[in-house]
Amino acid sequence: MTTPDLNDHHRRKLRQLAETIGVPLESLPIIGRVKGWVFTQVGGVTVLITATSRNPEDNGGFIVPSLHTYDERMIPSNLQAAANARRLYDDQLRALGNARYDYDYGHRGPVVDLEWSCHDPACRCSQEHDVEKERTAQHWSEEKT
Ligand SMILES: [Zn+2]
Repeated sequence: MTTPDLNDHHRRKLRQLAETIGVPLESLPIIGRVKGWVFTQVGGVTVLITATSRNPEDNGGFIVPSLHTYDERMIPSNLQAAANARRLYDDQLRALGNARYDYDYGHRGPVVDLEWSCHDPACRCSQEHDVEKERTAQHWSEEKT
C-alpha cells in the first residue's frame, strides 16, 4: 500500500498525539486514509486523525472508533481519549464481559479497519450492511472534533 496523503493538520495532530503519549512519531503507524480520516493505532487500538478540527483548545481532531463513548469519562478531550485508547478500550471490554456488543457506536474489537469493521463476530458491525456502516461514519464526521 502506498503511504496516504497527509495534510498539515494530520501531521500536526500525529505529532501532538505522539508527544502526549510520550513516544516517537515514527511509532504511530499510518494504516491508511478514508475520506478525511487517517487511521493509526495506539497500543493496538485504532485511532483516527480527522482532516480538520475546530476545538478551540486544540485538543480535538481524534476519533477512537472502538469506544462506545469517551465524553463522560472525566477525560477533558478526545486528544486524551486517543492517547489513552488502550486503557479506555480495555476498561470498556472488561465492563462488557462476554455480552454481545450492541451499542450504536463503538466496537467490540480494538482494531477497526478501513471498511469500518472490527471483524469480531460478537460485534454488531458483523451484521451491519454497508449503509449502516456509512451512517456510523457519518455520525463521526459530524462530531465536533
Ligand atoms: Zn465491530
